[in-house]
This record gives sequence, C-alpha cells and structure tokens, in this order.
Amino acid sequence: MSKIGIYPGSFDPITYGHLDIIQRSLSVVDELIIAVSNNKSKNHLITIDDRLNLINQSILSLPEKDLSKIKVEKFDNLLVHYVKSKNASLIIRGLRAVSDFEYEFLMTGMNRSIDKDIETIFLMSSEKYHFISSRFIKEIHKLGGDISKSVPKPVLDFLSKI
Ligand code: ADP
Repeated sequence: MSKIGIYPGSFDPITYGHLDIIQRSLSVVDELIIAVSNNKSKNHLITIDDRLNLINQSILSLPEKDLSKIKVEKFDNLLVHYVKSKNASLIIRGLRAVSDFEYEFLMTGMNRSIDKDIETIFLMSSEKYHFISSRFIKEIHKLGGDISKSVPKPVLDFLSKI
C-alpha cells in the first residue's frame, strides 16, 4: 500500500524552504499532497488560486521523477478531517528554529487529541533555508529588499507585479 503524506500550510507565498521540505518528504512517502490552507480568518496576501498556481509553477524545478508523486490541493476544513478524507495518516511539517517548536508542538497535540491515528513528522530544511519565512519575504519585498535567494522565480515575478 502506498504511503500518502500531507504537507499542509499557508504557502503565502511558497519559498525555497518549503520546496526543500517537499523534496525531503519524498524520501519518506510515496505520494505527497501539498495542502494549501484556505482559512479565511488568516489574512493572506495572495489569493488561494494564485498560491496554488505559484506552487504548481515552482515545483516544476524539481526532478521529473518527484513531480509525478506530488499533488497540490486546497482545503478549508479541519486538517485531520482533510487528512482522513485522503486516506492518509501522516502529516509533514517543517522545523526551522526553536521558535517553531511551541506552535508545532501544540498543533500536533491538538490534532492527536482529535484523531490518535494521525502521525505528524517534522523535517528540517537545509541550513541555508533556516531563516526563510513567508512572513519575512512579504515584509522585505514590501520595503524593496532583494528576495531572489529565498523564493522561486515564479514567486519573484508574481510579487514584482503587485
Ligand atoms: P502555516 O501557516 O501552516 O505555518 P507556512 O506556509 O508558513 O504555513 O508553513 C508550512 C510549513 O512549512 C510549516 O511546518 C513551517 O514550519 C514549514 N516551513 C516554512 N518555511 C520553512 C523553512 N524555511 N524551512 C523549514 N520549514 C519551513
């Protein structure tokens, strides 16, 4: 039976840090669903459709053998319900600094209290991506800074137009 992993997030926008986690997770799962959160209570800069498009364009830089294992979808229900609806039981999240830990720890605990069969695993990105976050990308870009080392070309082109 093939192992399906779900990588949920806002991806507002997708960065090289996300892409690194996506590639690493393919050594753990047979199929990866990048699940883009359509949570209206979070104030996203980029619309859900544009975030999906940017992910689809950005993953084209991955090796072809990996691409066939990846799907990109949006979800707006409870994550654990979404995971179950995909017949999956594995959530993948990325860890950067210690500062990520508390939020991820709480989220994993909450998810486990809702469904004890769902496991979450954490992957660390390469150290050159440790300081990349979508939030900082947006701030640096707004103030005219160079973000070309942090985001794939489709994101760079998109942000330069807004
Ligand atoms: P969310 O709003 O759910 O935190 P994000 O798109 O910010 O969504 O992040 C999705 C996941 O990717 C999270 O687990 C986050 O810690 C991880 N992540 C984001 N950027 C990086 C990075 N540079 N290195 C490793 N993991 C990352």
